[in-house]
Amino acid sequence: MARYTDSVCKLCRNEGDKLFLKGSRCYTTKCAIDRRRYGSGQHGQDRKKQTEYALQLREKQKVRRIYGVLERQFAGYVDEASRQKKVPTGLRILQQLEQRLDNLVYRSGMVPSRAQARQLILHGHFTVNGKTVTTSSYQLKPGEVVSVPEKSRKLIKALIEANPTAGQPQWMTVDLDNLTASIVNLPAREDLDQSIKEALIVEYYSR
Ligand code: SF4
Repeated sequence: MARYTDSVCKLCRNEGDKLFLKGSRCYTTKCAIDRRRYGSGQHGQDRKKQTEYALQLREKQKVRRIYGVLERQFAGYVDEASRQKKVPTGLRILQQLEQRLDNLVYRSGMVPSRAQARQLILHGHFTVNGKTVTTSSYQLKPGEVVSVPEKSRKLIKALIEANPTAGQPQWMTVDLDNLTASIVNLPAREDLDQSIKEALIVEYYSR
C-alpha cells in the first residue's frame, strides 16, 4: 500500500489541529495551521455539524497521521489491544504507538520528525541492543537500548543541534551525548497527549 505523498500540512488543516509532521517548521511562524486554521480545499471553510461516526473516524485518522501508521497496521494495534485485559484498550493502543522505534527515535530528540526517523531507520542509522534494526514499527520493550552506530553519529549529532523539539518524556531515558535512548516504563495515560480521545477510536472499531 502506498504512503501518503501530498502536503502533510493539509492533514493538519483537515484535522484542525497541529500534528507536528514537519519537524522544525512546525515550531515557526511558517506553520500552515497557525496561518489558516481551517480545512484545505474549496470547502475547507464550510462548517458542518459532525455525526458521532464522523468524530470517531476523525480521531482515528488524526492519531494514525500523527504516528504515520497505515490503516492495516493501526487495525492490528487495536486488535492486539482489545485482546489483552490488563490495560484499558485505548491506552494500550497508544502505548503500542509509543513503543514503535520511529516514535522513540523522534521522542528522544535525535531527529525532528517521525517521518525523518523512519527514513533514517530504513537506512540503518539506528541499532537496538547493538543490532541494526531497519523496521520503523519495531516494538521496543522497556530496557532495550536504541543507539547510533559510529558511522552515523556525525549525522545524528548535526540533526540534534538543529532540532528545537529536544525535551524527552519522563518514561524514557535519553543520553544525547552518547546517543542512546530506552523506555524505562510503558507510559501511563497522564504521560501521553491529553488532546487524543482514544475512547472514540475504540468506539470506531467496535461498530
Ligand atoms: Fe502541521 Fe507542522 Fe505543517 Fe504546522 S508546519 S501544519 S504543525 S505539519
